Amino acid sequence: MEDIEQHMSKDVLSVGTLSAPQGQKRYGVNEFLVDRQPYRLPMWLINGVGEGPTLVVTAGVHAAEYASIAAALELGRSLDPGSLSGRVIVLPIVDMPAFGARSIYICPLDGKNPNRVFPGNAHGSASEQIADWVFRNVISQATYYVDLHGGDLIEALVPFTIFFRSGNKHVDEASLEMARVFGIHFLVCSETPGSTFCAASVAGIPSILAEAGGQGIWTAEDVRCHTDGLNRLMRHLKMIPGNAPEATTCTLLERFLWLRSEHEGFWYPAIAVNDRVKAGQNLGCIKDCEGHVLQTAISPADGIVLFIVSSLAINRSDPLLAVGA
Ligand SMILES: [Zn+2]
Repeated sequence: MEDIEQHMSKDVLSVGTLSAPQGQKRYGVNEFLVDRQPYRLPMWLINGVGEGPTLVVTAGVHAAEYASIAAALELGRSLDPGSLSGRVIVLPIVDMPAFGARSIYICPLDGKNPNRVFPGNAHGSASEQIADWVFRNVISQATYYVDLHGGDLIEALVPFTIFFRSGNKHVDEASLEMARVFGIHFLVCSETPGSTFCAASVAGIPSILAEAGGQGIWTAEDVRCHTDGLNRLMRHLKMIPGNAPEATTCTLLERFLWLRSEHEGFWYPAIAVNDRVKAGQNLGCIKDCEGHVLQTAISPADGIVLFIVSSLAINRSDPLLAVGA
């Protein structure tokens, strides 16, 4: 009896109170307590007919990065378990309170950036509790993990894919291969403590974070950037039918250099995303109300402008832009 149960559970894909038998797809909402209040997390469990890896896809860790959320919704709605080898778990909106609030960068429950608190803490603040639940119940099931992002409501960006070198050669080579297969031209190596893909890489799960879209707009092209990448990755992993994806040319950027504001004021960028810049170049300035320059943003290296904050309003310590070099 015990053997049969173990065999059964091996074929069933489960997360929390939801499960999908082999060859089936389940959409549902897992409910758990965050700060003693019910927290509702929507997800698809797609359990294929054939053997294969488990791919976990999350979006909405930053809940106003709409192209990434639209892409995750499309994947969850459309993926057919009948033509899937392996398993796919899709969480289209991890930070549900931030989605409703149209919150920039942070979870309104605790004011923290959720992508700085992974793998989370069951006894921490709200974002840490959510990260802990997602990491233990979902991400830890992954053979491969993709976290979808984009520019936030006040950020413009050129698409790029981020990976992390954890020091585990096998994991790091697999993460870099995932990034290349995903098909976005710019690949960025970054260590961002507490981020989803870094925490997963440290836990031995090959992972990438893909960035496309921004400024609250989800164009078909930006959504397709994410959905095409997922499709290419699943074909590469032989999870769905189709030829191995054709190779794309990539530019690997080893450094992800963020510039931040030292003042509260008005932000005047002097460059655009995807611009090639030189070390020492003036990239823009922060002015006060009268127009006095409070700070000049100087490029720390020769590189590519990957994202720019497009908001005129800037607070002290806000990001201004990032250069990949
Ligand atoms: Zn993000």
